[in-house]
Amino acid sequence: MTSSWLIRNDTDRQRMLDMDRRLRPGRQRSFAVLAAALLICGPWLGWWTLGPLVVAALLFYVADRHMSGLHRPEYLAFAAWAAAALIIAICVALSGGPKIATTSWLAIPTVTLAARFSKRGVVAGVAFTLVLLLAIALGVDPQATLANPTIVVAPAALIVAVAMLSVALMESDIEHRSRAVLDELTGALNRTALTSRVEELEQQSAVTGAPVGLVLADVDHFKQVNDVHGHVTGDAVLRDFAYLMRKELRAFDLIYRLGGEEFLVLLPGASTDQAWAIAEQLRRAIDGCLLAGGVDVTISCGVAASVPGSLFVCDMVFAAADAALYEAKRTGRNRVSSAAASPQLQPVAAG
Ligand code: GH3
Ligand code: MG
Ligand code: MG
Repeated sequence: MTSSWLIRNDTDRQRMLDMDRRLRPGRQRSFAVLAAALLICGPWLGWWTLGPLVVAALLFYVADRHMSGLHRPEYLAFAAWAAAALIIAICVALSGGPKIATTSWLAIPTVTLAARFSKRGVVAGVAFTLVLLLAIALGVDPQATLANPTIVVAPAALIVAVAMLSVALMESDIEHRSRAVLDELTGALNRTALTSRVEELEQQSAVTGAPVGLVLADVDHFKQVNDVHGHVTGDAVLRDFAYLMRKELRAFDLIYRLGGEEFLVLLPGASTDQAWAIAEQLRRAIDGCLLAGGVDVTISCGVAASVPGSLFVCDMVFAAADAALYEAKRTGRNRVSSAAASPQLQPVAAG
């Protein structure tokens, strides 16, 4: 996976997808605010304005559903954003926009509130801005405001929606930094990231019944790499190994470093056979490559997946993949073993 016009690297892409997931509730709430404003303004603005809002909401809904299955999800995210902006521009033009333009500028400072203050500070700042808005509208031209409350309600909704979205963005950013979800040495995700992703996938499987595949990959005789080439080279080999895996996988197949030279790949939607094929592709890629310091390593993989139509219970699938990894080591290393016939993976009915 590589960079694109909109995204610098895979880490940023993962972050964007994660951000998009987190933003969704905030966006939905802000759409509700806009719908309420349009309903209130219906008699003055015309009820037709609800139509374009529904179209914009549908665009985001479709984009959200298809986002994680794409190699370049950033383009879809940008297209949905641009389409929504275009719809707003057309609506403003059709409703004689210039009349209500300048009061909306009050929304601009509220964007920065969340970056500096707590939630309480944001609420106070938004309340202050709304008071200013009312003071301008009722103080300067009370007759026009009472005759057409749109000139107050529309910018007020904008201010509140912008504040809601910026709070969601900042919370996500702060959580990202404080939870430190990346492994420093390899850039792979760490166990903290794994825990929250597993919870999501377990919940999703209850709804969709789609399988989740796991690949457990362990470098063969890695202790010898350290013994022969030194710990520093060993570290560089681990970095190269993680980079090679990243290159072989799709953007939404996430890699986690469990510790030492053991990595886990989560494959949403993959059956055991599909996970096996991906693990075999990884094994071959590593086998044919010289890593840092000219070191040549191989890997062994254990593969397992939840049964389609049943719940994904990570502990069970992990235990099966671990047993398969043990089998791959026992039968000679540099190979992929599958837990297809494992008795640990009996279907659990999806709720
Ligand atoms: P096997 O084929 O059975 O997996 O053999 P192995 O030598 O790879 O297995 P083992 O788990 O005994 O050894 C793993 C080694 O990985 C031991 C430890 O020194 C090394 N290791 C663990 N973490 C790191 C790390 O962050 N950097 C380096 N350089 N070495 C590490
Ligand atoms: Mg090993
Ligand atoms: Mg090991």
